[in-house]
Amino acid sequence: MESIRAGITARGRANEPLSLRLTVAEMRPLAPGFTRVVLEGAGLAQYRAPRPADAFKLELSADDTGRPLLRAFTVREFDAATRRLTFDIAHHERGVAVNWLATVSPGDAVTLAGMRPEWVAADGVRDHVLIGDDTAVPAIAAIIDSLGPEHRVWAYVPTDLLPRHPNLELRLRTDVETHTPEAISARRRTQVWVAAEAAAVRRVRAHVLGAWGVARADLLARAYWKRGLTNTDTDAASLLGYREAVLAGGDIHDPALAERIDLGL
Ligand SMILES: Cc1cc2nc3c(=O)[nH]c(=O)nc-3n(C[C@H](O)[C@H](O)[C@H](O)COP(=O)(O)OP(=O)(O)OC[C@H]3O[C@@H](n4cnc5c(N)ncnc54)[C@H](O)[C@@H]3O)c2cc1C
Repeated sequence: MESIRAGITARGRANEPLSLRLTVAEMRPLAPGFTRVVLEGAGLAQYRAPRPADAFKLELSADDTGRPLLRAFTVREFDAATRRLTFDIAHHERGVAVNWLATVSPGDAVTLAGMRPEWVAADGVRDHVLIGDDTAVPAIAAIIDSLGPEHRVWAYVPTDLLPRHPNLELRLRTDVETHTPEAISARRRTQVWVAAEAAAVRRVRAHVLGAWGVARADLLARAYWKRGLTNTDTDAASLLGYREAVLAGGDIHDPALAERIDLGL
């Protein structure tokens, strides 16, 4: 059975990084604390191999240096026929993305950059545990959408903003230390995905590998933000990590590499 990493290495290169000028087609409140944004544009024809929970960057308002500020988001839905891409923004107190939301309107232009796989199904695995805060809810929802009824899913998230699935067990808390999914108790091979604030992710990751005994190759843990640091700060730190990894022959499309760099493993 392939590991998550082997699958990513085999299938993760289908999308070249994108750089697309798109138009904001729609914006609407999705639920308290979340805004849904739909982008459209002919350039989305270049997004040829969408996978659940792919992530991209938006170039938002320029800083004093004139450089655009990049903020990461997740493809919640993609309609290749109409070339429309939907993503959801979780609100927080202050930030470039929050400011952008307050000023942007349908018809405005925005640049989308990159496109990176954040999750790949491990071949043959039927049991999935998905753990995340508000910023990971769009990714978790997209992953659940991609899983057929033969799969079983345990989701630990702070909101019920998830699609229906016949075998979804939802816990509206991320207290993995006090609750063990049945797949883990039954010692079935389980694929686990975690994304949230960096310190929370390190804590959950340690529990999943230790108390739950999940194999290292079946876990992907990603820092989606770091307390006290802007996305610009974290990108600058990651860039150094990627430079070193590439020089050492690493694959920049491999989410496991992103995990090691983000979490400082
Ligand atoms: C691969 C990937 C995919 C992502 N997908 C999504 C997505 O689909 N939807 C989404 O909403 N977010 C997503 N995020 C998280 C998002 O990129 C960050 O939260 C980002 O910092 C938001 O930018 P900002 O301009 O609002 O805040 P920034 O300017 O980056 O930060 C300003 C301040 O707010 C703090 N902060 C940042 N995020 C949060 C938060 N969520 N809660 C509380 N404080 C925060 C920072 O530590 C900083 O102190 C994703 C991140 C990654 C890496």
